[in-house]
Amino acid sequence: MTWMYYTIVAILGLIFGSFANVVIHRLPRGESVVFPASHCPSCGQILSTGDLIPVISYLLLRGHCRYCAAEISPRYPLVEALMALLFLLVFLQWRLSLTTLTGMALSFALLCAALIDVDCGLIPNRLTMPALGAALILATLSGSLLSALLGGLVLGGLFLALALLSNGGLGGGDIKLAAVIGAFCGWPGALTALVLVSLIGGVYALYLLIFKGAGRKTAVRFGPILALGAFLAFNYGAQWAAWYFSWLSR
Ligand SMILES: [Zn+2]
Repeated sequence: MTWMYYTIVAILGLIFGSFANVVIHRLPRGESVVFPASHCPSCGQILSTGDLIPVISYLLLRGHCRYCAAEISPRYPLVEALMALLFLLVFLQWRLSLTTLTGMALSFALLCAALIDVDCGLIPNRLTMPALGAALILATLSGSLLSALLGGLVLGGLFLALALLSNGGLGGGDIKLAAVIGAFCGWPGALTALVLVSLIGGVYALYLLIFKGAGRKTAVRFGPILALGAFLAFNYGAQWAAWYFSWLSR
């Protein structure tokens, strides 16, 4: 019956991906994520349930609004599919456990944060604060609240220090997202997250320097880098750290 679990997890991912699209679009504008009902940004027509089936509606409508034929961004179905993929990767790693639930909550927060940062260059408190709350509640349920608090304080604190030293390179939203990631990854997972984020950030900075002619003053949207590093650290960090240390001690 394993395939049934995969199907359920994938459908959950699609549904939360669809909700993520709403969050990504509305949170930075200060709008409610519940009201009004989903509508076409072009003609304002309220969308019916049949228009809102993740990925499938987009394909059936061939990427156009049913009412005004305006083009719908392919990003909507891509976000839905990506969330389903992230949920499946989390489930593959942690199976039927509270950690899977925690990983799904983290994936949701990360994908929303990364794309809002790409769109608007900020990560709103209305995303990071509920995410921090979710991390602490889930950690309490799994009996690892202290680990989550330590991870959050250390990673948030390090990013606060980096922001002060770098003089505006990192925003307040980045610092709060780092604290959220630390809380989700716990201790010492937060350290693995820090290592991975630094590696990914370093590679990305090199890419910008070499291929984009970036200078020291180029503004970098750090949200997606944090998100990728955090997702990898949460799911694979302990494994990779174990391999690394066993290789060191050979
Ligand atoms: Zn329309």
